[in-house]
Amino acid sequence: MNVVITGATKGIGLAIAHAFGEKKYQLLLCSRNEKELNDVANLLTATYNCTVHYKATDVSKKENCIGFANWCLMQVGHIDILVNNAGYFVPGSIFDEPDGQLELMIDTNLMSAYHITRNVLPSMIAKKQGHIFNITSIAATQAYANGGSYSISKYAMQGFSKNLRLELQPLGIKVTSVVPGAVYTNSWSGSDVLPARIMHANDIAQMIVAAVTLSPQAVVEEITLRPQLGDL
Ligand code: NAP
Repeated sequence: MNVVITGATKGIGLAIAHAFGEKKYQLLLCSRNEKELNDVANLLTATYNCTVHYKATDVSKKENCIGFANWCLMQVGHIDILVNNAGYFVPGSIFDEPDGQLELMIDTNLMSAYHITRNVLPSMIAKKQGHIFNITSIAATQAYANGGSYSISKYAMQGFSKNLRLELQPLGIKVTSVVPGAVYTNSWSGSDVLPARIMHANDIAQMIVAAVTLSPQAVVEEITLRPQLGDL
């Protein structure tokens, strides 16, 4: 199985890379930092003896997304699983966040998934199989204080994911929206939130792996996960 994961050097994306690496799937990873990608690739290869390809890519730019998708196809021919994970979070309020905040969030959190998906899809359509995971957020389901442009971008991502699911239903390609609440990653490491209060990135990864193992006639449309003690 060939698996593309965006934003795979940290947090949820890294946990997903470990989970698929453990199954010896072939991994195609991106993030912006080449050195971190190289370190992650070496670790995964040494730990699981899996094959890892990586390309430093800033997915906030359309041309980079298209370039990354085409590069993935050149490495392995076709893609079985695409995880649109790369995301960018800055708290803010619509009325006073910096000018350009919405554009930044939309480019990284939504447009990256749109462009990479559109360029990877022909290889899935040709095989009449594939599975696309879109990492949205609880911020895609409700407004909250300091949600600002991040929440708007995640609502849009959820709309993208639902429409894609409907379009690809007859083509044999599964689409799953992953809707996590707070997960202890970089976003939280500078805060006073204790790691044990919220979810572990591996919780998200395990659910994604489980969704992949179902029969072709079953799809998990949405995975909503929250900390046991509720949202923060
Ligand atoms: P994280 O720990 O900050 O990791 C983000 C990953 O994405 C890193 O590998 C980062 O590497 C990469 N990345 C960021 N911007 C990028 C860009 N423009 N181009 C390419 N790669 C980029 O984030 P996370 O908390 O795991 O979040 C992952 C996803 O889950 C995001 O979509 C986020 O919105 C969503 N989510 C997170 C939580 C949470 O509580 N953590 C909750 C709900 C949803 P570089 O910086 O080197 O590029």
